[in-house]
Amino acid sequence: METVLDLDLSAPDAVQEGVGNVAFHLVGSEILRIAGEVRALREKGTPICDLTVGDFSPKQFRIPSALEAEVIAAYQAGETNYPPSDGLPALRSAVAAFYERALGLRYPLGGIAIASGARPVLWSAYQAVIDPGDVVVYPIPSWNNNHYCHLTQAKGVPVAARAETGFLPTAKDLAPHLAGARLLVLNSPLNPAGTGFAKDELAAIARLVVEENRRRGPEERPLFLLFDHIYWLLAADSAPHFTPVALEPEVARYTIFVDGISKAFAATGLRVGWAVGPPYVMSRMRDLLGHVGAWAPRPEQVASAKILEQAGLAETLAHEIRGGLLARLELLHRGLVSLAAEGLPVEALPPAGALYLSARFDLGPLGGPESDDEIRRFLLEEAGFAVVPFHAFGVPKGSRWFRLSVGAVGLPEIESAIPRLRAALRRLVPTG
Ligand code: PMP
Repeated sequence: METVLDLDLSAPDAVQEGVGNVAFHLVGSEILRIAGEVRALREKGTPICDLTVGDFSPKQFRIPSALEAEVIAAYQAGETNYPPSDGLPALRSAVAAFYERALGLRYPLGGIAIASGARPVLWSAYQAVIDPGDVVVYPIPSWNNNHYCHLTQAKGVPVAARAETGFLPTAKDLAPHLAGARLLVLNSPLNPAGTGFAKDELAAIARLVVEENRRRGPEERPLFLLFDHIYWLLAADSAPHFTPVALEPEVARYTIFVDGISKAFAATGLRVGWAVGPPYVMSRMRDLLGHVGAWAPRPEQVASAKILEQAGLAETLAHEIRGGLLARLELLHRGLVSLAAEGLPVEALPPAGALYLSARFDLGPLGGPESDDEIRRFLLEEAGFAVVPFHAFGVPKGSRWFRLSVGAVGLPEIESAIPRLRAALRRLVPTG
């Protein structure tokens, strides 16, 4: 090219840089900002136990070799053109068969939608049922509901969940907020705590949804339950996973499951997710996803179908990953408990699965940093211990609870971080 143009790409001096309201006011991820700080410090050579990323490092967790082999085989077989916009029939049947075998729930093919991960599934579920101003009830802490509410212009009603219930809401917490609501969003096992609903509590919540819908007249649109169980194959045996539909089958008409391979197979970069629910909603979600083009890559769909259609294979592969995660979570938990036993200001919930542990660092009373962000910085700079405050999950500032995510660290990194943490906390505790 002979002439190359230098372009003026500055924002016009119009209101909001000329972009739309919704886009202008959308907030970026706090976790990514923190991850940037961690990277900068690491580049200076500071040893860091990075517990911020809600992802797997392939150095720690590879995708199962069976999945890798199927992906490669699909590319080699030329499975590289557009998939059907609502997902390959083979994958939709494999998901249906998997839910029947593993969860005891029978769905028709029309009840399954495939997308490029769980995010587009969540987005399309919100889009399918929400009109601007509709009420969405979601517990805090939880992941990204504030952003999905903003994107759909819903009126979000966050309901605070307490440490005593593993940061999961109870039926009693939710009951006062469901009258007239359009959507209740739940996640179990939970990002950020790793905890899962107990059977009776989840059954009671499902009954609330059924009762609210029975109460509504034919003119009123239903209350839906969006149940994100993307981590369910990673639940510890001590915290077995339940679904609202198995516990209260009448809620099936209103329930949309969110699921996929991202977490169960440490396959966050492969981008395969699915929704399971009543066909009348799934068909709307499939059309939304089709127009956005948020379909999963075809070779990864072929490969996921091959894994899910073999009885017991998905569970076996996921449990291998779960074993690695639980070993890390337990080591971390033991370390924090030992610090607490020495009188240091730490508490932690027991590991229950997924990638996460919740811990509280209450350093203010010792004359240490007070605010969540100052505590986070102190832990990072003084102990090389990188964590994310619950504030990033919608909890009001000042809780002093943090998410510790273990998908990107090895056991030795956790082991060497505990003495650093001890030393940093001891510097705060007055001696003598
Ligand atoms: N739901 C929850 C609860 C999550 O934590 C995440 C990922 N952080 C997602 C959905 C999105 O998963 P995916 O990578 O498949 O889009």
